[in-house]
Amino acid sequence: MLGSALHLDATRRVECAFVSHAHGDHIARHDRTIATAATLALMRHRLGVPRRTRSEHLPAAHRSPFGLGDLTLELFPAGHVLGSAQLRVARDGVVIGYTGDLCTQPTDAAEPAEVMPCEVLVLESTFGLPRYVFPPKAEVLAAIRRFVDDALSDGQTPVLLGYALGKAQEILKHLSDRGYRCRAHPVVHGVNRVYEEMGVRLPGVRPLGPEGPERDEVVVCPPHLAASTAMHGVRRRRTAVLSGWAIDGGRHFRGVDAAFPLSDHADFPSLVAYARATGAGRVYTLHGQAEALAATLRREGLRAQPLREELQLELL
Ligand SMILES: [Zn+2]
Repeated sequence: MLGSALHLDATRRVECAFVSHAHGDHIARHDRTIATAATLALMRHRLGVPRRTRSEHLPAAHRSPFGLGDLTLELFPAGHVLGSAQLRVARDGVVIGYTGDLCTQPTDAAEPAEVMPCEVLVLESTFGLPRYVFPPKAEVLAAIRRFVDDALSDGQTPVLLGYALGKAQEILKHLSDRGYRCRAHPVVHGVNRVYEEMGVRLPGVRPLGPEGPERDEVVVCPPHLAASTAMHGVRRRRTAVLSGWAIDGGRHFRGVDAAFPLSDHADFPSLVAYARATGAGRVYTLHGQAEALAATLRREGLRAQPLREELQLELL
């Protein structure tokens, strides 16, 4: 049935791929795609539906093992964006886990991450340096609400900049559940519709139109579209960016009034704790600070080394 390798988050078309989540650096139009139903819906939204396709989608539910060739696969929630999944693969008695992008602090708009017990762990290491320690999410969200309240009481429109998939829905869900009236940039609105189809309610969120927001409304927009035509109606702005990189201070961002470390990735202590919690005897670190995280895990007594991308597929 399998006939070839199972690729993980391949960004070019392959025969058969597992897609952990629908961010642009993890997706492509594959012949066969294994992913959660939410990830498949978000991929269709982002990539469009090709007119002529022989592609096949294999929706998989979290925590429901299934066979593929001589592999047994099981998905675990990754807590990163809606539908995001870790993949556990068992073959010949060896159990390998691949986290994809992982966030262990629960969010309002994604399935909370679960620990994936495994023997060999491939662990993302975006924030794999000891200085990356995020405050508790509740504190970050409270600070964002204060920023919004202050801007509104000063007669300004709070503009929150966050990625169109995941970060935008997280803050929109948080604010709209608490009675804030929100406007979403059209690109965010398109993703919101998929979230709502998949059961994430976003009450009080409307698309941003050319007339701009009303006095008491909050605008959520992707960072690279802050100056786009759709934002021309947003005049008296007070702007904040929502990103884990805010932990480095403002040096990553220009032209914003504030930056809040709202992250959809695990911070350094969470990555180390997660590696331990899986029980893995060997850890390969991937992306971001792979070298540094592997070195720390070795000091903690784990066998760990960075994984070069081309080695990734040979594991399977
Ligand atoms: Zn991602």
